[in-house]
Amino acid sequence: MDINRFTKVSDTAWRLEPQGAMRVPAVIYADEALLADMDDKVAEQASNVAMLPGIVQASYAMPDAHWGYGFPIGGVAAFDAEQGGVVSAGGVGFDVSCGVRTLLTGLDHRAIEAVQPRLADALFAGIPAGLGSTGQIHLRDQQMTDMLRGGAAWAVERSFGQPEDLERIEERGQMAGADPEAVSQQARKRQRNEMGTLGSGNHYLEVQHITRVFDPDVAAAFGLAEGQVVVSIHCGSRGLGHQIGTEFLREMAIAAQGHGIDLPDRELACAPIHSEIGQRYLGAMRAAINCALANRQILTHLAREVFAEVLPDANLRLLYDVSHNTCKTERHVVDGRDRELYVHRKGATRAFGPGHPDLPEALRGVGQPVLIGGSMGTASYILVGTNEGERLSFNSACHGAGRAMSRHQATRQWRGRALVDELAARGILIRSPSLRGVAGEAPGAYKDVSRVVQASHDAGLARLVARVEPMVCIKG
Ligand code: 5GP
Ligand code: MN
Ligand code: MN
Repeated sequence: MDINRFTKVSDTAWRLEPQGAMRVPAVIYADEALLADMDDKVAEQASNVAMLPGIVQASYAMPDAHWGYGFPIGGVAAFDAEQGGVVSAGGVGFDVSCGVRTLLTGLDHRAIEAVQPRLADALFAGIPAGLGSTGQIHLRDQQMTDMLRGGAAWAVERSFGQPEDLERIEERGQMAGADPEAVSQQARKRQRNEMGTLGSGNHYLEVQHITRVFDPDVAAAFGLAEGQVVVSIHCGSRGLGHQIGTEFLREMAIAAQGHGIDLPDRELACAPIHSEIGQRYLGAMRAAINCALANRQILTHLAREVFAEVLPDANLRLLYDVSHNTCKTERHVVDGRDRELYVHRKGATRAFGPGHPDLPEALRGVGQPVLIGGSMGTASYILVGTNEGERLSFNSACHGAGRAMSRHQATRQWRGRALVDELAARGILIRSPSLRGVAGEAPGAYKDVSRVVQASHDAGLARLVARVEPMVCIKG
């Protein structure tokens, strides 16, 4: 992309001044090389988002941003309901509440090395993965309704995990304001057998070891130390979230004109927050958040069962669980005024700084863990939210490395079998039901995650705490 179009705010912040129908500027956080390599579409899409009614401050793109449906992936936008603000299904993404949770294990990496192939096989056997994979849980309609209201708290009540887990989940494991009635029969049907499953492609359960600590104080507060092992789980709301996204995008696109909204791009389908459809979407989307939280909680339980079998000394404790595809009602100071905003994060991680009242007591002093995937063959990172992040991006940071090429392109460039073998030679064991899926997720198909997190750090969105590298990866 042509970087001369931007006003350079700093080495890691670039602004497009409002022009045409833009109500606010568009701001991209990236270093010069990341920006130059970024898809032109990111600037176009971020500018389109800046045209939506009620948008506040600016439309943002994170350093891992790439082209998405309507909104860029890596996009952040906040709307004020009292100023005609909108909610957009495309601003949340299809995999509602997709996110990452990281568990501490109390194990040293040498303990894993001793049993690595057996652990990989046992995890692969114990964690349902792959397109359309089904689990052992089958929900009747009333149970589905309870799950959609209860989230991870529902799962814990059913003995998937421990009450202490809830403390360390966004929203304490249960998203308020969920409306199971707003979730269609088709969405429920798709989810009936999919609880406790990883899904496909980009979703993973990974055993990782910490290879570098950047901030010893915060790392200590998080319980992280070099050489220690953690487990990260990345997945979302499976078929249910996807169905909700699909249905509401269609419905919002049709309804937009009736609401007097002139869409710069049909894919930006949205509705006023105060409209009937806007409220119905928020209720369904919050139910899907609960579905994702319950799903990651059940997967945690399954992972604990496998570890108890293979490595009985392990004690899997939750560091944190945070989503990167949501619309959340949050209070933020804008123009010196404390306002309630609807913050859309699509492929962007919430990153609250130290002292934020929504953080659990044990983390409040240091800030929220920000959990960033890299790829199955490179590092991933743990960062911490900052206070300046509020002014910069409504407390949001990147969510991964971000794709550098499409899945389709990647499957033409790499072979799954060769990748699995290469990674095994480097001590990384991949288990996946789909070699084609593995090829689509080749490490080379992603941007350089180290650059992306460094740019997030330098921009002040979140600060580097620790680097982890994969040992075992169960890929969907
Ligand atoms: P998304 O939510 O956009 O599908 O993916 C989030 C991020 O996860 C991607 O941008 C990518 O950097 C990362 N990722 C994808 N596959 C893997 C994997 O197998 N292991 C790790 N550690 N990260 C991955
Ligand atoms: Mn997802
Ligand atoms: Mn995701």
